[in-house]
Amino acid sequence: MATIGFIGLGNMGAPMAANLVKAGHQVTGFDIVAGRAEALAARGGRAAATPAEAAGAGEVVITMLPAGPDVRAVYLGNGGILGRARKDALLIDCSTIDVETARLVATAANDAGFEMLDAPVSGGVIGAETAGLTFMVGGNVDAFERGRALLTAMGRTIVHAGPAGNGQAAKICNNMMLGVSMIAVCEAFALAERLGLAPQTLFDISAKSSGQCWALTSYCPVPGPVPASPANRDYEAGFTASMMLKDLRLAQQAAGGSASATPLGAAAANLYQLFVNENTSGLDFSAIYRFIRKA
Ligand code: NAD
Repeated sequence: MATIGFIGLGNMGAPMAANLVKAGHQVTGFDIVAGRAEALAARGGRAAATPAEAAGAGEVVITMLPAGPDVRAVYLGNGGILGRARKDALLIDCSTIDVETARLVATAANDAGFEMLDAPVSGGVIGAETAGLTFMVGGNVDAFERGRALLTAMGRTIVHAGPAGNGQAAKICNNMMLGVSMIAVCEAFALAERLGLAPQTLFDISAKSSGQCWALTSYCPVPGPVPASPANRDYEAGFTASMMLKDLRLAQQAAGGSASATPLGAAAANLYQLFVNENTSGLDFSAIYRFIRKA
């Protein structure tokens, strides 16, 4: 049994913290939104009244926050984790943030005597609820081995991606692939329709041909071929278009900072921006099919 402080109890953090409780750990949670820590307490955890209380509550401190500025504030700010965590605590940030912030915060943590992992996730809210997440982990090997058992209580696949920041690098590269391939699948279905080719027929052929990819066979953006895909429930998210846009923007930021040319990644970010500007940010990211189809 480990004692854990958990900061950020939103859509992902709440079920992740609950799974740690289920696995027998003592979890003390905090969120700036009133009631979220109490909801964790109702599921067998403990509620902290302040971030400092959660930061000081465990051998491990886990964060699941919206974006880079939140992570900087919660770790480096006045009364933040680096000032309040127990000596020798292992710090694990599971938020999806920019590589630069992940490395900056990890360096500050190391300088303050802490080991830190960046451990962003894939698998969405369902993965968080079912402890089926994939963790992509950056940080040194000893810290990774120290954190692995806890991550296993929240996820099914735990991969060490290399030194600090590499978990975030893996996450944004993966999601750039996904954003680009989703748009490619949408374009192909829109073209097929204008050519008189039925969606199910294209699906049956491409699912067994070189066009096969996850966006097609597991998450088909056209209603029909894949019953579980959001296209069959009016594009209820799932993984929202605004989250995909966020990750594509992070990839563009990283590309700029490393002089990498990612022309398709840039195009995907722009297309998702145009789509989200149409008040669609809450829809599933596969709903971009509607936008592409009418173009
Ligand atoms: P969310 O907005 O539901 O949760 C974030 C929580 O952090 C909120 O409860 C918010 O009140 C809290 N918070 C913000 N600032 C805080 C602070 N200073 N102190 C304490 N709490 C604070 O977001 P989410 O969907 O849970 O996503 C969290 C992270 O996981 C994001 O980086 C997101 O990109 C990533 N992610 C989300 C999904 C998904 O499907 N939702 C999938 C993979 C990765």
